[in-house]
Amino acid sequence: MKISVCPGSFDPVTYGHVDIIQRACDLFDHVYVAVLSNTNKSPLFTVEERIKMLEITTKHLSNVTVESFEGLVVEYAKKKSALAIVRGLRAVTDFEYEFKLAAMNRNLDPEIETVFMMTSSEYSFLSSSAVKEVASFGGDVSKWVSEEVAEFLYSKFRARK
Ligand code: ADP
Repeated sequence: MKISVCPGSFDPVTYGHVDIIQRACDLFDHVYVAVLSNTNKSPLFTVEERIKMLEITTKHLSNVTVESFEGLVVEYAKKKSALAIVRGLRAVTDFEYEFKLAAMNRNLDPEIETVFMMTSSEYSFLSSSAVKEVASFGGDVSKWVSEEVAEFLYSKFRARK
């Protein structure tokens, strides 16, 4: 059984993430989407909310499990017997950061491969932070996130006002 891990903050999950997860599902028998809980970024959503949004948005994929994890991605991947860590690349600007991360992970565990997938062109500009910014002003985010995620965003910003 070929297993992979898609780690990230997913704050919140966008169609750009779903595109990568979906394509990982075609390549691997099982995909663990791992929500990072020890991030330096201060997330808008709790880990539980991020997991819920991911579960809703990936419910059409039968070989996905969404979980949270703390600590090193390579440790998590090993625990899951994963062959690879899957990451998405949007633009050259992602490259340096991802390159360093992959090199670090390879140093920590040479047995776990990092696989990069180029984003589909329609999502190349899409990021969770841009979506949050638009939603915070009540703008339409329906092209970038599911209806349910949009509702999570609007209610979070309503509660903050
Ligand atoms: P992190 O904080 O670890 O970068 P993110 O939730 O921002 O977590 O992203 C998780 C993964 O999804 C990363 O590999 C990132 O490059 C990828 N990703 C994010 N947005 C897109 C997108 N629009 N298209 C393709 N990949 C994306």
